[in-house]
Amino acid sequence: TGKKGAESKIVVLGNAGVGKSALVVRFLTRRFIWEYDPTLECTYKHHTTVDDEAVTMEILDTAGPQYTIHREGHVRWGDGFVLVYGINDRHSFEEIQNIKQYLDDIKKTNLMCVLIGNKSDLCHERKVSYVEGQNLATDMACAFYEISASDGGEEISELFHELHREIKRRKQM
Ligand code: GDP
Ligand code: MG
Repeated sequence: TGKKGAESKIVVLGNAGVGKSALVVRFLTRRFIWEYDPTLECTYKHHTTVDDEAVTMEILDTAGPQYTIHREGHVRWGDGFVLVYGINDRHSFEEIQNIKQYLDDIKKTNLMCVLIGNKSDLCHERKVSYVEGQNLATDMACAFYEISASDGGEEISELFHELHREIKRRKQM
């Protein structure tokens, strides 16, 4: 049926300060908000169109200290995961592997994620190369985008849409 797969639950994960909220708000409003309550955890319901199909995306923007990103309930709830690090923050990049491991432990199979290197506008502060991001994405068998939530651009919508397509494909299998 046409309805099936038209919903997806997406969880945004990554260390504090990498720009998760900025990214989600940019996607939903096309605006960049400089300051965003770092403790606010929020689920947005977003109605949009992907490939001419009406789609509802629920997006969970996670927050809080490190250990709270490891919340089993979030992981079970989600169909797909946006894993975010900052290209100027080596530690946030290294943390991605731990998050991925945690997801694998809970989901076991068919884990769908995209890897995002955010803050590409801060190239003068770069601590993680593009190729390193690409290699990690290859290891995790997922798509990779370097983006800037502050500059915006098409690829921010594209990454959410692509994840939705993946989720839909998987649900139909
Ligand atoms: P979160 O803790 O992962 O939700 O991160 P936030 O979205 O709250 O962003 C943390 C800080 O990074 C804020 O001061 C944002 O303005 C800033 N920020 C987020 N995305 C970008 C970006 O693409 N470029 C730059 N230069 N700053 C960003
Ligand atoms: Mg936040």
